[in-house]
Amino acid sequence: MASDSQDNQEHSAVTGAKTPPSNFTVVKTYDPKGDLTLHRLSTATAFTCGRCNKEKKAKLVATNWKRWNDLRCNGCYGKVLSEG
Ligand SMILES: [Zn+2]
Repeated sequence: MASDSQDNQEHSAVTGAKTPPSNFTVVKTYDPKGDLTLHRLSTATAFTCGRCNKEKKAKLVATNWKRWNDLRCNGCYGKVLSEG
């Protein structure tokens, strides 16, 4: 019997970021508007907006194509919607 104890756990972290990072606690998800989906978080959470590239800390954050690695701040969310 070979005692070949390989601890070979797969860490497949690349899942397209379809789920929010652990520091994001989503309490409400709004209806998607076009490519964007607005979410309300339990507390103001820091993130970088992928459109204005500003670092934000807010309770409202929008995901682009429902990807949590491509976020929009509330300001850009409103702008994108108003621009169509
Ligand atoms: Zn923005």
